[in-house]
Amino acid sequence: MIWIEGVLVSEGAGGVYGERILQGYRVWDPYRSKLAAMYYLGAGPELRPDQTVLYLGAANGTTVSHVADYTSVVYAVEYAPRPMQDLLEVARRRKNIVPIMADATRPMEYAPLMESVDLVYQDVAQPGQVSIALNNAVFLKPGGNLVLVLKTRSIDVSRSPPDILAEAEEALRSGGLQVRQSVWLTPYHQDHAALICARD
Ligand code: SAM
Repeated sequence: MIWIEGVLVSEGAGGVYGERILQGYRVWDPYRSKLAAMYYLGAGPELRPDQTVLYLGAANGTTVSHVADYTSVVYAVEYAPRPMQDLLEVARRRKNIVPIMADATRPMEYAPLMESVDLVYQDVAQPGQVSIALNNAVFLKPGGNLVLVLKTRSIDVSRSPPDILAEAEEALRSGGLQVRQSVWLTPYHQDHAALICARD
């Protein structure tokens, strides 16, 4: 990962979403990207040029574009038509993003387009976040990582976020993943945690 004087950046064609450019690199803002926030907090698996990534909840491709700057291929799944239009434009300008319009709750529908990946990153903000992650872990290579961004308010606004986090960790373990680390994304994002998991 590339840091310039404490600022996380990525190397690639700029002008994707009006991001700032610092010494020729694209600034990756932790307030706009939960994945960037995780790195600012010192957590998570580093992105590397030899990695393939399945990205669930691609939205308009802002974070996807940074992940693509660091890795070899990003399979980017999004089901909403409006952000998908923006994602297609981002993918058009890069050679290593595969945009997939699909519902992440139904991974078998995009399985024919996929290969095994080194990293599954999920940011879908849905009540069924944990089961979506478990169902997509099928694409992980042995030794691969899964990062689940848990939005606790999407699961239950009335329960305490730490309880929801503990329940999610337990469900991931029961589903066969090792939960290596969990980190709250404050001060960048409220009521969001990143759960960093590994598959044996
Ligand atoms: N990860 C994005 C970023 O950093 O730029 C932001 C993601 S936004 C919080 C969540 C996205 O997940 C939305 O664009 C939404 O349409 C998408 N989403 C939610 N449920 C989904 C599902 N079941 N399948 C595919 N996409 C989904």
